[in-house]
Amino acid sequence: MKKTRIKEVVVAITYKCNARCRMCNIWKIKEHFGEITPDDFLRLPKNLKDINISGGEPFLRKDLGAIIIAIQKRCPRAKVIISSNGFATELIISQMKEIIKIMPDIGVAVSIDGIGKAHSDIRGLQNCFEKDIETIKELKKIGVKNIKIGFTLGGYNAKELFEVYYLSKKLKTELSLTVVHSSENYFGKINAIENRDEMIQALNWLIDKELSAWNYKNWGRAYFAYGAREFIKKGTRILPDYSGILSIFINPQGVIYPCDVSNKKIGNLRDIANLEKINKNNLNGCEQSWMVCTARQSIKKHYIKVILWIIWHKFLKVKI
Ligand code: SF4
Repeated sequence: MKKTRIKEVVVAITYKCNARCRMCNIWKIKEHFGEITPDDFLRLPKNLKDINISGGEPFLRKDLGAIIIAIQKRCPRAKVIISSNGFATELIISQMKEIIKIMPDIGVAVSIDGIGKAHSDIRGLQNCFEKDIETIKELKKIGVKNIKIGFTLGGYNAKELFEVYYLSKKLKTELSLTVVHSSENYFGKINAIENRDEMIQALNWLIDKELSAWNYKNWGRAYFAYGAREFIKKGTRILPDYSGILSIFINPQGVIYPCDVSNKKIGNLRDIANLEKINKNNLNGCEQSWMVCTARQSIKKHYIKVILWIIWHKFLKVKI
């Protein structure tokens, strides 16, 4: 396959899920969705830099190890992270014991949207919080180094952000923020933004917190949180969207979309000729999202703007 400009892929390898999250209908409507095989991953663009293996719950696929082998073979330079709800501790740990032998630097992001019952209620699973903490601790024990807490911010859990931030510090994991999005194609659900003021307040706090650190990664996260705040305020992105050119979303059947909130099919992983055609004609131009998967490429492309923002607000102390 010819070299494409695509640098980043989110691939939902299954829509099967053991959680019952309030902001997602995947578990209700997509249980019997078809799934591509590990060999299909040998058709991914070779020059990928970031691959997020998502779901559903990715660890429910018994052949996850075989998928990782194929990805390792095809995209040896890619940073790979598996996004999990973290609930099936034993299954996750038994799979990860094998997976880190194949790809030692692979990461796992475990979703935690609140403390204790607040989180379990959002995810629709009893004791989900306790199981997730156990999963994180067990992942550390078996030697997984890149562990993140994924926090999805909605109007229903803005107050939980502070505590989850400190939990991530206590567990020595990175906190990765997402704002609740609507997607008929992916989540099968429209999530209206509620309690906007509380969400903005929580994000202002996070921006200040991240900016006060002395690490450029925290400053980058502050900028991302600023983008999330502006997205909540105005419903638009602070930087242009390059999904469909620099990043794509692939569903469990191999169908390719510019991103997971888009309904526009642009190809199929099984159709190499089609994949080669992915170019700027597929630009999503989607103003309705500010997710890490599409924001990262925008931030890289507009890095001067980001550096100026950091200088302005971190060093010159201009109020955001
Ligand atoms: S948000 Fe993720 S974990 Fe929750 S039901 Fe949807 S796919 Fe499952």
